[in-house]
Amino acid sequence: MTLITLDHLEKRYENGFEAVKDLSLRLESGKFTVLLGPSGCGKSTTLRMIAGLESITAGELRFDNERMNEALPKHRDIGMVFQNYALYPHLSVFENIAFPLRLRREAKARVDERVREVAAMTGLAELLDRKPKQLSGGQRQRVALGRAIVRKPRVFLFDEPLSNLDAQLRTQMRVEISQLQRLVGSTAVYVTHDQTEAMTMADTIVVMNKGELQQVGTPQEIYNNPSNRFVAGFLGSPTMNFFEGNLTQTAKEWHFQEQDGFTLNDAQNQVLSAFQGKVALGIRPENIACTPFESDSAALSFSATIERIEFLGNEKLVYFRTQSKSASLLKVLRASIGEVIGEVGTNCTLFVKRGACAFFNERGERV
Ligand code: ATP
Repeated sequence: MTLITLDHLEKRYENGFEAVKDLSLRLESGKFTVLLGPSGCGKSTTLRMIAGLESITAGELRFDNERMNEALPKHRDIGMVFQNYALYPHLSVFENIAFPLRLRREAKARVDERVREVAAMTGLAELLDRKPKQLSGGQRQRVALGRAIVRKPRVFLFDEPLSNLDAQLRTQMRVEISQLQRLVGSTAVYVTHDQTEAMTMADTIVVMNKGELQQVGTPQEIYNNPSNRFVAGFLGSPTMNFFEGNLTQTAKEWHFQEQDGFTLNDAQNQVLSAFQGKVALGIRPENIACTPFESDSAALSFSATIERIEFLGNEKLVYFRTQSKSASLLKVLRASIGEVIGEVGTNCTLFVKRGACAFFNERGERV
């Protein structure tokens, strides 16, 4: 078990581009941490600095209390799994998995025992004699996993390992990787731009954007309590609805006025005691309903026109437009299949759960 500490870590490439800026993190021992962010946010660079595949420009990287900045990759005791599997095509599944043990000149009987153990864990016991080209994508990724865990490394690093697999296999492999990590107990760092992977696999999610840390927390904390507009919009599918408008205070009440559009009265006044002005109001699609909430008489409401309805089997997504004169984007709400909603073109009143509004200032900070 290893605690990984990133202390003001920075990466500036030779052309002067700053890919990672002043990143400080504690990646807890034995836990599964996911680095999440859009393409180019610096997550792979961060992972590669941890692996020793990329030099560190400034700051310190520690495994427990040991400085690792200058340690060679082979001295870091890391098992790494990449998107493209990186298997040896001329070696059998057995020899691919055995490779790290052969490098360490482990005894033949020990290699045999460990490879069979790992093959059983990864569901490859029947395939040990095959070559990589005789395997499916999912099986190849399992071989890569097996090769990473066979040495019981102190740290697992995963760089988008499921990107090449189809949707069903990704779901299955998500579960398998999580289970294997728990079984082996090594500290794991997993890079992805896929928020579903992050939400389902992580003990802790680290959200990055443009080389900078945005938020660290459990999946639930980050989803329920995003610290800024970027995080709020990045997590959640369909994504959070944002309404641009103004927040004003009159007497005891707060008012949110969308540009030329609807007004929400008394919008979470306890939270907003110190802020007035231009804001974005964020509401998650599942917190909007077409009928009033019985238990919550003070719920917020506004009118809108239904523009499209998508049936997804277990639920439907309803796209609507508020009465704003400005060209506002379509918003969406999730509704259960039985819920009665008008046809496309219907004007209706929509209701928002009290406490489900998040406000962001012009700099995107939560207010
Ligand atoms: P992706 O999901 O697309 O892999 P990422 O978040 O992992 O994205 P990185 O690979 O860490 O992103 O790259 C971060 C930024 O650094 C990108 O803008 C990229 O263009 C830049 N970058 C990466 N390698 C180099 C390099 N060798 N020289 C200059 N810039 C680089």
